[in-house]
Amino acid sequence: MEKKERGSRVTHVLLLPYPSQGHINPILQFAKRLVSKGIKATLATTLFITKSLQPQESLVTIESISDGYDVGGFMEAKGIEAYLERFETVGSQTLAELIEKLNVSGHPINCLVYDAFLPWALDVAKGFNLPGAAFFTQACAVDVIYYHAHKRKLSDPVAILTVPMPGLPSLEVLDLPSFFAVPGSYPAYMELLLNQFSNLEKADWVLINTFDKLEIEVVNWMDGLFPVKTIGPTLPSMYLDKRIKGENAYDINLWKPDNGTCMKWLDSRAIGSVVYMSFGSMAALGAEQMEELAWGLKGSNNYFLWVVRDTEKEKLPSKFVEETREKGLLLNWSPQLEVLAHKAVGIFFTHGGWNSTLEALSLGVPLVAMPQWTDQPTNAKYVEDVWRVGVRVKVNEKGIVSRDEVELRIKEVMEGEKREELKRNASKWKELAKEAVDEGGSTDKNIDEFVAAILSKESI
Ligand code: UDP
Repeated sequence: MEKKERGSRVTHVLLLPYPSQGHINPILQFAKRLVSKGIKATLATTLFITKSLQPQESLVTIESISDGYDVGGFMEAKGIEAYLERFETVGSQTLAELIEKLNVSGHPINCLVYDAFLPWALDVAKGFNLPGAAFFTQACAVDVIYYHAHKRKLSDPVAILTVPMPGLPSLEVLDLPSFFAVPGSYPAYMELLLNQFSNLEKADWVLINTFDKLEIEVVNWMDGLFPVKTIGPTLPSMYLDKRIKGENAYDINLWKPDNGTCMKWLDSRAIGSVVYMSFGSMAALGAEQMEELAWGLKGSNNYFLWVVRDTEKEKLPSKFVEETREKGLLLNWSPQLEVLAHKAVGIFFTHGGWNSTLEALSLGVPLVAMPQWTDQPTNAKYVEDVWRVGVRVKVNEKGIVSRDEVELRIKEVMEGEKREELKRNASKWKELAKEAVDEGGSTDKNIDEFVAAILSKESI
């Protein structure tokens, strides 16, 4: 691999994700792509994460900053407001210290790629006269909804729907990110999402984990406002273009996956016969909802693999495990990519987090979307009506997805008349995702242009 060098110096990019699974995965993966293009990449995670996970350094060097909660991370804070406030203060300072340290280490930083959730990082970069690239880990469509809300200072769901939003399909309240649809539900998160745009005009690039063909209209619209580059989907190369040798997994897992048991179990199942169910790293469902899911799964009479973290297991109905021993396997954390890529998996019953959605699209797996909060309702809208790769569950008057509904939706996607169309569309998106990251594809070209632009800024 040719290193991009100026004199004896290697071009060095520092990347800063928000410290959660759904943000570390795409930013670390993007870092690996940069390394494959001859760039040196360093990922800055919080001390809590580096201490508790001791991530192995592979293609990307890992360094620490502090969010001010070195012992317990987010769980140590008295809530999201306190966490974000302290992260900004302590994070700005420790990020600056890290850049200073790296600058005298013989590998000075040439660019900061920062999570759009952390706009203060751009101010730190500018303090060192460094170019900064905002990295959006959510869909472009979702980013644009927040952009309109930020610009017009709107949070009311009805008001936001009256704003013309070019590039987006026609939306209803329930398709909006949950912070609009349930006003006042999480004001600090809403502020965090709107703040992504607070200083974005100062960013040198806006990188989005999507690919052109997936969201072309809205990408084009946003590109008219900001220097947008689509750089996704950020799955390990092995699952897409296979051009980066040995690049086959997300390297940092906040929970330990039980790969052996799970893959062996899948190996002994027939093609397309398993329902894979997971609600990502953050969702914690209520006991009543867990019970409905459990009996709905059982009622569908399919084999199933369900990720229920140990802390959630007490919410399962008491006889469930016993009664479904022949049919199902519960996991604390799964090797999700390996699972989705396995031929035994027929559908992905998911909360529709953006990474999970992109993974299913990239691996050609039809979906049942059961959005919980944040961007998930908008992702579900696209899954059902725009990409047409799955269905969205209906919620009853109590706010619960009933066991009958769970069973019905699983059967609809597993064996209903829609199945062939959903599978065809899923295969189409799988091909297009691969095409985007493969040599000469839109994402590949954008990453090349990004690398070339950093080099040219350096030479100024
Ligand atoms: N994931 C995993 N094992 C699991 C559940 C999730 O590896 O058992 C990974 C998944 O592949 C994805 C990430 O965790 O990359 C979750 O991100 P997403 O945006 O889907 O949801 P979030 O956790 O942010 O709600």
